[in-house]
Amino acid sequence: MRWQNWLDWLVFTRRPRPYDAHILRLLETIAQTPTGAPLVAYVHRRWPRIEWGTPPVGTAFTFPWPIEAIIMRDTGDEASNIEVLAHELAHMARWRGHIVGSLEQEYDAYLTGVRVRAEWEGLDWRDPSGPATERWPLLFGPDASPKRFMEWVRTRNAFYALLPWRQPRTLPELVQALARQIRFGVCLMMKKKCEETPKTQTAGAKD
Ligand SMILES: [Zn+2]
Repeated sequence: MRWQNWLDWLVFTRRPRPYDAHILRLLETIAQTPTGAPLVAYVHRRWPRIEWGTPPVGTAFTFPWPIEAIIMRDTGDEASNIEVLAHELAHMARWRGHIVGSLEQEYDAYLTGVRVRAEWEGLDWRDPSGPATERWPLLFGPDASPKRFMEWVRTRNAFYALLPWRQPRTLPELVQALARQIRFGVCLMMKKKCEETPKTQTAGAKD
């Protein structure tokens, strides 16, 4: 989109960012996998903020375009760190321009993260009878489907539970999703448990 390019031109300096040594090591590892290479190429074009810290939810969080920043917690396990960072990079590089989340987007990020991890561990996720299929049946098994995987994802935490299924693409969808995510953010900041309204939540869950 042209307006995105204009905003990029105003916002990004394209100056190499001195990443923390451990982050740099994770990026180098991800770059060596076929699935991860284009994600790290994106980082080298734009030098987004990628830092250790306390994400607002979960193990890591990507602040969407045009902020473009990843805040992640060290899981203490290299394979998990690789998967987590690849997951967040998928949000950033493959879904740029989408300022709200969706389960469609989460599925893509999970799939990308696990593919990178499997490739790094030397497991062929394309092999239907291989160990990757056994380990991640919901992603690579014979009965795997985005819907079944996303149903599982959705039960995992409150943030996923409020995301729409399909990525909002029209203005009304975007406004509705944004309002829900802002409300969630405010509740989070006030450390208040906000009730969900399942009626509007299931409206988009037809496919
Ligand atoms: Zn995600």
